[in-house]
Amino acid sequence: MTNPADDTDARCYALVPCAGIGERAGAGGPKQYRQVAGRSVVARTLAALAHVPRIERTLVVLAADDRGFAISAPDFAGWAERCGGATRAASVAAGLSALADHGVRARDWVLVHDAARCLVRAAAVDRLIDACLVDPIGGLLALPLSDTLKQAGEGERVAATLDRQGKWIAQTPQMFRLGLLRQALARAGPGITDEASAVEALGHAPRLVLGEPDNFKLTWPADFAFAERLLKESS
Ligand code: C5P
Repeated sequence: MTNPADDTDARCYALVPCAGIGERAGAGGPKQYRQVAGRSVVARTLAALAHVPRIERTLVVLAADDRGFAISAPDFAGWAERCGGATRAASVAAGLSALADHGVRARDWVLVHDAARCLVRAAAVDRLIDACLVDPIGGLLALPLSDTLKQAGEGERVAATLDRQGKWIAQTPQMFRLGLLRQALARAGPGITDEASAVEALGHAPRLVLGEPDNFKLTWPADFAFAERLLKESS
């Protein structure tokens, strides 16, 4: 663990895994390349991150055979690497190695953000950075669970009602130091679904920073219509 007082020159970088095929979003290619209110999902995501001055540069992880990024985000001025893996965790791990190859140091901070969360706001990212820069571990945007939680059983019937007390829904960005994150992901393997769980497996307790409901991950067909409505209302 690094003492924050030792590294006041630590910089922030964003890493955007963009190598998924997005099967749950239905037909029409990878979900991050679909249009929402006249602009691709990934272009919106990258534009939101570009509004955060403390992010020095963004690295996008693409699939080896990607054909959508260049036309979906023609204005992107960061690093794009064709190093995506079979799972999100593998894509992020490969992206972290690529950041190190670009000279990002072990003590620098990396904000991992899903390409498919295009409604993220700069203010929320700034809140995360403010909280993590003074934290020995790092943290993530998350929302306290407000609904009652059900465990499904056979035939889409409720098997149990789970205690929602103290439960949070993890969002992204998730912000950790490059060195800690590489070590955590190497240990956790390709199956984990977020960076915080890999860091937790090392025995650390990442900080929970209040996110926003709009920062949901576009996953299901209905999410695209909902995102479109939100964007039209706010324009
Ligand atoms: O599929 P899921 O919704 O969990 O994907 C979250 C993010 O991870 C998306 O931005 C997707 O493009 C990315 N991803 C990736 N490599 C994979 C799977 C997902 O970069 N193999």
